[in-house]
Amino acid sequence: MLSSSSLLSYSTMSTPSVVIVGGSVGGHAIAHNLVSLLLQDARRQKLPDFPFPRITVVEPRRGLINPIAIPRTLVDQAFAPQTFAPPSSFSPQVLDHVDFVRGRASYMSRARVDVRLTDDCTTSLPFDFAAIAVGRHRPAFVMPPHLTKHEYLAFADSYALNFRAAHSIVVVGGGAVGIEIAGELKYAYPTKSVTLLHSRDRLPPEPSLDPEFSERVLDALRALGVDVQLNTRAATAADKKPSEIEVGRRIIKTTDGREFEADCTVWCTYRGTVASEFLDSSVFLPQTSIDAANNAIKVNDDMTVCGGFDNVYAVGDANDYPVIKTAGGAIFQGSIIAQNIARQINIAQGVYAPLDEVEKEQGVEVPEVVLCENWGKAHMAVIIGQEMAVGETRANGVSRDYKATAELFEGDMSTKRIFEAIGVSAVSAESAESAVSSSNGH
Ligand SMILES: Cc1cc2nc3c(=O)[nH]c(=O)nc-3n(C[C@H](O)[C@H](O)[C@H](O)COP(=O)(O)OP(=O)(O)OC[C@H]3O[C@@H](n4cnc5c(N)ncnc54)[C@H](O)[C@@H]3O)c2cc1C
Repeated sequence: MLSSSSLLSYSTMSTPSVVIVGGSVGGHAIAHNLVSLLLQDARRQKLPDFPFPRITVVEPRRGLINPIAIPRTLVDQAFAPQTFAPPSSFSPQVLDHVDFVRGRASYMSRARVDVRLTDDCTTSLPFDFAAIAVGRHRPAFVMPPHLTKHEYLAFADSYALNFRAAHSIVVVGGGAVGIEIAGELKYAYPTKSVTLLHSRDRLPPEPSLDPEFSERVLDALRALGVDVQLNTRAATAADKKPSEIEVGRRIIKTTDGREFEADCTVWCTYRGTVASEFLDSSVFLPQTSIDAANNAIKVNDDMTVCGGFDNVYAVGDANDYPVIKTAGGAIFQGSIIAQNIARQINIAQGVYAPLDEVEKEQGVEVPEVVLCENWGKAHMAVIIGQEMAVGETRANGVSRDYKATAELFEGDMSTKRIFEAIGVSAVSAESAESAVSSSNGH
């Protein structure tokens, strides 16, 4: 139990404010874990009139997409609805304690975030603690910009119809997204010709992965019937806007003089840059806080932004932490950031101190800062069609059993698991069906 002096100091301090910019998996993980931790602290320490911090998530989308499910969403109209969780499926705890501001951050300083709301007004959010969870710019077909579930499903329908109409499809670029889209297409349409062109000798190109990972991915794609062409660069890729899906018959020429015909071409050659316009327009982050080579925000092991920002964090795809960028990694980092912010709030509020000798014996002490050190640098999995997947983890190395690895994704590209990890209920089949009807205009 805490001494009465520490309870007093907690309840008399002003309410701290936390602003999280970006409300996808990384941002949600912070909000969900922070609320849970602070509620636990309040219950455990029996704090009276607990002044709960103001927690705000800034996000233009009205809901949450499972980003890892996009490759199947593009191909399978029936699957898409369950991959978009509307705010009504967020946990009651989060809905009670977090404000969702629907808009885009347009400016950030050391103490406030300005937000352009979707109706073009602006608002200003002062903060004591902030987290940048804005991910990276990605092409629309890979990370749909759609703000509502209705728009998102209409988008998924249009791609699925284009793929269905095509006889031959060429996917350019053998990163994880290109591999998964090629696999989903060939699995869904075994009689269509699906070709994957990749400019290097191994796919995916992440150098930290074991070479065996690439060999197994290649074997799985070929077993499925995808025509994989390595060391083959599409000649037209450089002079066109990358990252589109082009519908219509065309010839893809390669730099080694070959030609591939396609009714539909999927360009997965983009290299995402961190979605940081709102940082560029300010004098907030010095150049030393930006990793120019990878266009990402530099972070320390506790996920604070480098350069003396002990109250500003960056999570997931937006930061330069040297791991392969994954949804699981963003959720893991989000939980670390939540623990560190909860710790800082509790210290500032006097929850942990002063402790007398009796309390020390009872084990009430300031927890250590949590570091992001238990996530392997080569932690990744790719799904190849619905029945095969290849993964690598620090503990188990490269997976050998395609089917068993695919089963880890539980048939829904981990949608339920990812949503549950961040306090979002799975979207029921019933509500998914009604969303399909409404997207079809019924
Ligand atoms: C097609 C695809 C397939 C993938 N497959 C896998 C996979 O199989 N396994 C896996 O683990 N990972 C996979 N990933 C990677 C994974 O999805 C990302 O690593 C993860 O989404 C990163 O989460 P994040 O929260 O950091 O960023 P994001 O998920 O990119 O979210 C960023 C959020 O910030 C918001 N935002 C941007 N700018 C602003 C602003 N100015 N103001 C407010 N909000 C803003 C955006 O609207 C968005 O919601 C895949 C990604 C893609 C695109």
